Amino acid sequence: MKPENTTRIQFDSLSVNEGFARGAVAAFLARYDPTVPQMADIKTAVSEAVTNCIVHAYPDRVGPIVLTVSVYPGRLVRITVADRGVGIPDVAQAMEPLYTTGNPEERSGLGFAVMQSFMDGVRVASRPARGTRVTLTKRLAAKGEDT
Ligand code: ATP
Ligand code: MG
Repeated sequence: MKPENTTRIQFDSLSVNEGFARGAVAAFLARYDPTVPQMADIKTAVSEAVTNCIVHAYPDRVGPIVLTVSVYPGRLVRITVADRGVGIPDVAQAMEPLYTTGNPEERSGLGFAVMQSFMDGVRVASRPARGTRVTLTKRLAAKGEDT
C-alpha cells in the first residue's frame, strides 16, 4: 500500500535529540487529530526506540539515526527508527522483558515491552555491525471513535 503522507528526518545519536524526535513525530501527526492517549502512546514508543539507538547502537561514538513517519489510508501510522550501529545478535532475546545489556542501575530492559504494549505492532530487523531498524505501527482511531 502506498502512504498518503511521509516524512523522513536524520539526526545525531545525542540524548538531546530524543525530545526533538518525539516532538517531530507529534507535529507531523497533529493534523490527523489523534486522540490524546494515542498521541501519548506513539510519543512514548518513539522515545524508547530512539533512546535505544542513542544508548546501545553507538556505544562509543555519535552516529546517525533515521526516523520515518508514514500515514497510510485508513489512518494507519507506520514509524521506522533505524541506526547503523552495532546491531542486535539475538532479537528475540533482546525483546524479552527485563533483558538488558545496559548498566542495570540505569536500564530496566523494558523498552521493547513498552513499545509492544503501546503500539499495535513492533518489528525489529537487525544485523550485527550493520544496524537495527525498529518498525512501529498503530491505527489511529477514526474521528469520534473511542480508544
Ligand atoms: P530500558 O529501555 O528499560 O532503559 P534497555 O534499553 O536495555 O532498558 P530494551 O529497550 O528492551 O531495554 O532493549 C533490550 C536490549 O536490546 C538492550 O539492552 C540492547 O542490548 C538491545 N538493543 C535495543 N535496541 C538496540 C539498538 N538500536 N542497537 C543495539 N542494541 C539494541
Ligand atoms: Mg531501551
